[in-house]
Amino acid sequence: MTDLYERLKAYEGSAAITSGVGKDPVNEPMIRHWCEAMGDANPAYAGPEAMAPPTMLQAWTMGGLSGHTGRSAEQDELFSLLDGAGYTSVVATDCEQEYLRPLRPGDRITFDAVIESVSALKATTLGAGHFVTTRMDVRADGELAGRHRFRILKYAPARRNPKGTGVATAPQRPRPVINRDNAGFWEGVAGRKLLIQRCGGCTTLRFPWLPGCGRCGSARWDTIEASGVGTVYSYVVMHHPPFLAFDPPYAVGLIELAEGVRVVSNVVGVPYDEVRIGMRVQLEFLRVDQELELPVFRGPVEGSVEGMAGGLAGGSVEGLVGGVG
Ligand code: ZN
Repeated sequence: MTDLYERLKAYEGSAAITSGVGKDPVNEPMIRHWCEAMGDANPAYAGPEAMAPPTMLQAWTMGGLSGHTGRSAEQDELFSLLDGAGYTSVVATDCEQEYLRPLRPGDRITFDAVIESVSALKATTLGAGHFVTTRMDVRADGELAGRHRFRILKYAPARRNPKGTGVATAPQRPRPVINRDNAGFWEGVAGRKLLIQRCGGCTTLRFPWLPGCGRCGSARWDTIEASGVGTVYSYVVMHHPPFLAFDPPYAVGLIELAEGVRVVSNVVGVPYDEVRIGMRVQLEFLRVDQELELPVFRGPVEGSVEGMAGGLAGGSVEGLVGGVG
């Protein structure tokens, strides 16, 4: 164990936030805004018996622009130590939540957070660094209601080779994490099909793949194949942080498929600064390397919205497909 790692480990178990208080009690307006943003019309989240979506757990604890009271000096010291050792960049890597009881309008939220673990030095495609996991215990009217674990990577950014040096050292694009819930999707991709799950109970389509239906709760499902026609519903242009397998800036699109579900993917065939909301795009499969093929969307596809709708209603997208340049 290095001297630095010993010093970092000493912060495990230290408080990150002590006696935090939610800025607002659980309330219907925040629940409604969340559900609208998520497109979640589950009736459990509305009406006189409403509960909050469990995934809102962290929302009730957020400090907003004015921040939290109760933030510990230990957490600041830990990050200063990492900064001082050259691990100056930060990226959030993942979070896990456990739900112990439903939250309902009127519940008063309090919370404590603890620095649960600091990893040994790890090599990542972003650069070498330490993972820091913080656990927040969230209470409603004093009773433990859920736990939120949040993991970040504090890292020393790896240097990119300057463009045009001809040195091919870029690491591979990350592999998808395939599990039993999404294996069918990747089997579809291997067959150059973009498969959408369809609920066996209420026929609602869903994407990304999930084990159950968010509308009726049924665990039965089959799939339909996407036609491949879509529009850019929203997008971001990635500049930072630099990620060695990618070449920023590039556009990441939220593509609304003709079937109604949305897919996060790359928009290709158009300069990153010319991607626009509403741009019509067409599915294609990008062979990234020997093992990896990904569904991406090529834009812009010519044609009017009316033409697209008419083509779909008539069961034909020939005109659209023909229009892909
Ligand atoms: Zn359903």
